[in-house]
Amino acid sequence: EPGLYIVATPIGNLADITLRAIAVLGGCAVVACEDTRVTGKLLKHLGIKARLQRLDDHAPPEVRARLIDMARGAPVALVSDAGTPLISDPGYRLVREAREAGVNVVTIPGACAAIAGLAMSGLPSDRFLFAGFLPVKDKAREDVLSGLAGVGGTLVFYETAPRLERSLRAIAALWPAREVAVARELTKLHEECRSGSAAKLADHYAAHPPKGEIVLLVGPPAAEDQPVADPDALLRAALTEASPS
Ligand code: SAM
Repeated sequence: EPGLYIVATPIGNLADITLRAIAVLGGCAVVACEDTRVTGKLLKHLGIKARLQRLDDHAPPEVRARLIDMARGAPVALVSDAGTPLISDPGYRLVREAREAGVNVVTIPGACAAIAGLAMSGLPSDRFLFAGFLPVKDKAREDVLSGLAGVGGTLVFYETAPRLERSLRAIAALWPAREVAVARELTKLHEECRSGSAAKLADHYAAHPPKGEIVLLVGPPAAEDQPVADPDALLRAALTEASPS
């Protein structure tokens, strides 16, 4: 079937590729990817030969237009270096433009570090907000964090090893009582998930500098310090309950 296939690839353990992903990658005319070397290795491991086209969100519009044109007549795959394309990875423009052009867009779901980390963290998973990478600069990081203070759900960030401790210190300063989790090297040999206060985790990683890839999660605020959405409605409800019927 012609179309644009968004194909998730493993985030570490190469066995985490779906049967559908293998079938689609094996049958497509071209694979759009972030880094042809990284995707070349994966395809080689799977025994698949396919034409690779480098694509990132800075690629000139002609590159996307050509891929979309091809996808009208043949299956075209979009992958990223690891995990689900578009999730802190390129592809948003391509998918948007393909949909606008009326091209068939198909999703082949699979590994995603944010979801894998959330699932194993032990933090509330019924509501969460994925906020991508935190800014590098202290002030910008603080601004982003304080902007998320009122979110009544678990916050999920991507983080890098060298920046983890500073981010944890910033979280500790803002939310000393919240439970935090660090999910590291998911699906790989040294997979670990540690939780505790941000200050405790910052001390741990200061003493044991982390390596590898990291998902940083912050539990929701305690119910009593959440801002009240509509005080009038709450007051009316309380009065109705209290009044004799
Ligand atoms: N699209 C990818 C996905 O679906 O997970 C994420 C791409 S983003 C550029 C890369 C970041 O994802 C890393 O810096 C890290 O924060 C997180 N990540 C990727 N693989 C990971 C893993 N195996 N364990 C923990 N975090 C991971």
